[in-house]
Amino acid sequence: MTFTLLTLFPELVEAYFATSIAAKAVERGLVGHRVVGIRDFATDRHATCDDAPYGGGAGMVLLPGPLGLALESVGASERRTVYPTPSGRPFTERYARELAKETEIVLICGRYEGIDQRIIDKYVDDEVSIGDYVLSSGELSALTIVDAVFRLIEGVISGESLREESFTDGLLEYPQYTRPEVYEGARVPEVLLSGHHAKIKEWRLRESLKKTRSYRPDLYARIESRYRDFGTD
Ligand code: SAM
Repeated sequence: MTFTLLTLFPELVEAYFATSIAAKAVERGLVGHRVVGIRDFATDRHATCDDAPYGGGAGMVLLPGPLGLALESVGASERRTVYPTPSGRPFTERYARELAKETEIVLICGRYEGIDQRIIDKYVDDEVSIGDYVLSSGELSALTIVDAVFRLIEGVISGESLREESFTDGLLEYPQYTRPEVYEGARVPEVLLSGHHAKIKEWRLRESLKKTRSYRPDLYARIESRYRDFGTD
């Protein structure tokens, strides 16, 4: 799987692929990446990439000219092209799984007030929001999508880790503990030290249900009937 990112700030994106799990996945050939600087496609001597919006209003909009040339240079019309934007459809684990099946995805990192609608109409397959808030840069939202997708690619992390994660089964994950057994007077729940796998599994499911009910009643409503007889208190 190759991630192709178009950005005004290539150094921000390169740093991600040079660090930790992403760097290992790149090194092992499981993930490829292309980082394309939009400014390299600017056509004037000031390398201008943005201008004021037609119709007035605050801020600037990325010019379609340089961005369009950058998209052409990576063959965006033949590839799944994603534009992260607060006005897109919500990004979910399910959608991440869908993207993980592609051989390449192209991500446009927006800035300022965003990008020209004609670029969206011509090249973009999906407009996706990572949450109901506004960031100042598309690099963080594009990398959020990359991060959620690349860990689903076979071999990047263990299958067991993926199976037990939040959202996998419609539930949030149970609380995790590690050494020491007592930290500043707080003990690890006794059941986790028991070595009794069935009891540990039951405790974890109960905690997952409690957490999901409390933090995400919308998710809980979908799975409640499956666990009605289990009880969470
Ligand atoms: N004017 C835009 C609006 O109101 O929808 C916001 C633009 S934002 C300041 C600049 C860039 O950050 C966007 O083009 C997008 O790439 C990125 N961005 C900000 N918030 C985001 C979110 N919640 N999801 C995805 N991308 C986001």
